[in-house]
Amino acid sequence: MTDCIFCKIINGDFGTEFVYENEYAVVFNDINPKADTHLLVVPRFHVDSLNQLDDELLLGKLMMTVKDVAKKLGLNSYRTVINTGKDAGQEVFHLHIHILKGNIKL
Ligand code: AMP
Ligand code: ZN
Repeated sequence: MTDCIFCKIINGDFGTEFVYENEYAVVFNDINPKADTHLLVVPRFHVDSLNQLDDELLLGKLMMTVKDVAKKLGLNSYRTVINTGKDAGQEVFHLHIHILKGNIKL
């Protein structure tokens, strides 16, 4: 999606470093961290939010990506958050899963 900031990041437009990536998703640091560690797991395929996702395989792969990146970074305890819709605080309308650890303010 041309107007989507996360699609642009996935496309490499801003040179954002990926701390992890696989066939389904990329993972990068949140620009405005709300915890000591604050990562975003972002599907390569654009979907506005969880409400628009009907691909069970992708949903499963995204959650497995959370687990894999946590393991890679040695985070055995962490919180995952998915904001769905404006009223829930969703600001970027490209589905993403927050991974947070340490002094969480979210
Ligand atoms: P949400 O409120 O769930 O939509 O979360 C969007 C998150 O994306 C916020 O925590 C922002 O700080 C983060 N964010 C916005 N723009 C960028 C960016 N260019 N690079 C990394 N994180 C970003
Ligand atoms: Zn997008």
